[in-house]
Amino acid sequence: MSFLEYAPAPESTAVLNLKDSYGLFIDGEFVDGSGTPFNTISPATEKHIAEIASASDEDVDRAVAAARRAYEKTWSKMSGRDRGKYLFRIARLVQERARELAVAESLDNGKPIKESRDVDVPLVASWFFYYAGWADKLDHAGLGANPRALGVAGQIIPWNFPLLMLAWKIAPALAAGNTVVLKPAETTPLTALIFAEILQQADLPAGVVNIVTGAGSTGSTLVRHPDVDKIAFTGSTGVGRDIARAVAGTNKKLTLELGGKAANIVFDDAPIDQAVEGIVNGIFFNQGHVCCAGSRLLVQESIHDEVVDRLKTRLSTLRLGDPLDKNTDIGAINSAAQLARIRELSDIGEAEGAERWTADCAIPEQGFWFAPTIFTGVEASHRIARDEVFGPVLSVLTFRTPAEAIAKANNTPYGLSAGIWSDKGSRILAVADRLRAGVIWANTFNRFDPSSPFGGYKESGFGREGGRQGLTAYLKGAAA
Ligand code: NAP
Ligand code: MG
Repeated sequence: MSFLEYAPAPESTAVLNLKDSYGLFIDGEFVDGSGTPFNTISPATEKHIAEIASASDEDVDRAVAAARRAYEKTWSKMSGRDRGKYLFRIARLVQERARELAVAESLDNGKPIKESRDVDVPLVASWFFYYAGWADKLDHAGLGANPRALGVAGQIIPWNFPLLMLAWKIAPALAAGNTVVLKPAETTPLTALIFAEILQQADLPAGVVNIVTGAGSTGSTLVRHPDVDKIAFTGSTGVGRDIARAVAGTNKKLTLELGGKAANIVFDDAPIDQAVEGIVNGIFFNQGHVCCAGSRLLVQESIHDEVVDRLKTRLSTLRLGDPLDKNTDIGAINSAAQLARIRELSDIGEAEGAERWTADCAIPEQGFWFAPTIFTGVEASHRIARDEVFGPVLSVLTFRTPAEAIAKANNTPYGLSAGIWSDKGSRILAVADRLRAGVIWANTFNRFDPSSPFGGYKESGFGREGGRQGLTAYLKGAAA
């Protein structure tokens, strides 16, 4: 029980203007899908939100054909300056409809409104603003002379940051002059469909962006479509492998943003209060449904007990519950399937000998929930130290020397992100240099900016999204 009691402060859903059912967005229009429609629900209440069309192979083919026509007839003929105008317009419309998008995202995904409102949606707008600025400067980006678009990009995104992942994919693709067919995740299609309405509002030429909702098989069809020039995928390493196999030997360009098991390393000279906030943000932000989450805490042995004590105290004050309540810190787990996976891995953690501690908070009766959990006494061989839990579960390991911290941090098949907490700049730079991770935060965690490239090593995938580097994935012959 928290010592601070807050009155409920739910965000109103009156700002939403949802339809009962949504079609596919192909060639600038919402059209019926020929697959069996499915429902999207709120994971916090298990209540139905809307019926969503499912794209069959023929529907995917129609979407790709529309993207190809738009590429040849309109988008590739347009100047970068004009493409940029559309992207600026989209960015401004996202800002205008920010509250509606934040409420829809929290409803469909389960994430706290303070995150969708203050992190996801503002970053979506900034991604479009940022890449709008590049659209007329591609010749001056140091990416080779006269860089050319690839053509039609097939893009597949996960459910943890539905609208933000859409922005990471669509903004650079359009800035570089490509057209797009995007498949949102099955459990979180809502904001992509509201985004389609924004594209209509922005008068984006028909077919430049097409959105095909459906299950994994819709994504698989898109990956295998012969008239797609580029596949950009964010999701699990398992599906990433399948996609890499499907694309091998074709002319398709591929970028993969996959899973992670980031080390968050806390040295004994770190500012402990700040580090505790950073650890909490690192693993409990978005219920830990974050590919770059700091899911392995590596804490120097001499401060282990102090850090763990302070963490437990801090976690006991987090408020779990209604994602639409402005006071909520921990929202709902996105799906029953994800909840089952988190439970299974946590049970394995206990069975393998780690010590489990769970914050004492009331769990709502409806919906999918998992209280913030810490495992101490975790060994490098434990499943909870190796597998991506993708939930609010922190594994704590210890180290004695910087060399041991580096060895343990790199002892993972993944290489997406890492964190370092220390008072010494020289130590931060020396350790960062030896960590095999695409993104390294120092004395902070989970910070994102459109100008900063993001991506992984090893089983976390390849290619970079964000920054000037993010354009190379959508241009012929470009190297950052
Ligand atoms: P997922 O199962 O791989 O799904 C990702 C997307 O791929 C969804 O749209 C999914 O559709 C679709 N899909 C499923 N099977 C497919 C197939 N055979 N061919 C083509 N597409 C297919 O992953 P998830 O559970 O949604 O997301 C969690 C994972 O994403 C975690 O491992 C996380 O680390 C990773 N992630 C990585 C990043 C990054 O930037 N590196 C960012 C966010 C998340 P359905 O939803 O319909 O199944
Ligand atoms: Mg949903």
